[in-house]
Amino acid sequence: MTEPSGITPMVRSEGVHKYFGRLEVLKGIDLQVMPGEVMCVIGPSGSGKSTFLRCINHLEKLTAGKLWVDGELVGYRQKGDKLYELRENEVAAKRREIGMVFQRFNLFPHMTVCENVMEAPIQVRGVARSAARERALTLLDSVGLADKATAYPRELSGGQQQRVAIARALAMDPKLMLFDEPTSALDPELVGEVLTVMRRLAEDGMTMVVVTHEMGFAREVGDTLVFMDGGVVVEQGDPREVIPNPQHERTKAFLGKVL
Ligand code: ADP
Ligand code: MG
Repeated sequence: MTEPSGITPMVRSEGVHKYFGRLEVLKGIDLQVMPGEVMCVIGPSGSGKSTFLRCINHLEKLTAGKLWVDGELVGYRQKGDKLYELRENEVAAKRREIGMVFQRFNLFPHMTVCENVMEAPIQVRGVARSAARERALTLLDSVGLADKATAYPRELSGGQQQRVAIARALAMDPKLMLFDEPTSALDPELVGEVLTVMRRLAEDGMTMVVVTHEMGFAREVGDTLVFMDGGVVVEQGDPREVIPNPQHERTKAFLGKVL
């Protein structure tokens, strides 16, 4: 799955369909995210945004279509021209290459901030405690929380907790970061500090898919803006073109509500 440019897309989806029972939630999604790109996804509640992210992250099985992450077919291993379904442990290994940040931060409440960030590298990768701690402190510093390393999540604001959640995801050195409405549970005055961290991550070259209704972020940081509605991509393009000049009525109506 390589482009004529010779560069393998970080994410590529072709005709991705997803049903929950009889409910068709994704109705043929075609998208591509190249390495280093930031794709922002907007759309009304229930349009399938989270489901699409969950498909990328091996948390949902596609009903039909194909999805590649970094050139590898999600859910399958190719041997010759045969495809084999991945085993559970193989899926888990793939999932570790992708960082995901949710609306709710889900930090471990009984662990300090630093321990939260150290946990996965130690448990999953077998990294030595001292090395994990050193790396965690570097990451906490990069999200502006070096002074909170020994605090507990409950002692932090929502914005600070979300920045810890980002640091925790980065501790596993993901090649792709998925954000599912990372600021929508935050008080308005705390949104900016999280977006600043995400912007810096993008500037450092991280490939990101971001479901967000922060249109300022989408315009300034996004390479592409995707508008989803009812399980389809209604419109996609350069956010600096789509936002001021949407081509579809549905996009226009939606932007009218979030801008
Ligand atoms: P969005 O993130 O755009 O709000 P979702 O992807 O969460 O949309 O949901 C799309 C649709 O799929 C909704 O109608 C939702 O109720 C349905 N849905 C999501 N997850 C499940 C599930 N596990 N089982 C059944 N229906 C689901
Ligand atoms: Mg959602």
